[in-house]
Amino acid sequence: MYEIIVEDEFSAAHFLKLYDGSWEKRHGHDFKVAVTVQAEKLDSMGVVTDFEALKPALKGVLKSLLHIAVNDHPEFKGEKLNPSTENIAKIIFSHLQKNFDFKTAKLTKVTVWETPDAQASYYGGRES
Ligand SMILES: [Zn+2]
Repeated sequence: MYEIIVEDEFSAAHFLKLYDGSWEKRHGHDFKVAVTVQAEKLDSMGVVTDFEALKPALKGVLKSLLHIAVNDHPEFKGEKLNPSTENIAKIIFSHLQKNFDFKTAKLTKVTVWETPDAQASYYGGRES
C-alpha cells in the first residue's frame, strides 16, 4: 500500500452553536489541511496520484472557505451544519472527492488543524 499526503491552509472565521444552544464568539483560525490518498499499486507514472494535479484541486476546494465566516458557506448556512473542525474536514473531503479524478487511487482521509495542537479528521467510507 502506498500513501501520499498533500497539505494546504486557509484562514477563516467560525462560531459554533454550543450544547446549551448559545453561540460561541466569532473568531478566526489559520486552518491547516492535510489530504491523504492511498493506492495498492502505482500508476503508469509510478505515483499514487500526481501531486501537481492534486494540489490545485485542493486549493480550488479551499477557495470557497478562504476568508469567510464558515457559518456563511452554503454547506453550513442557516444552521444547516455546525462549522466544527470535524464538519469542515468532512465537507472538504466530499468536495475534493467530487472535483478530482482519483482514478484507481482512493481519497482516504482529510485532517484539519484549527490550532497546531488541535486537529480533526474525516475518513471516507465510514459514515457520520
Ligand atoms: Zn474555532
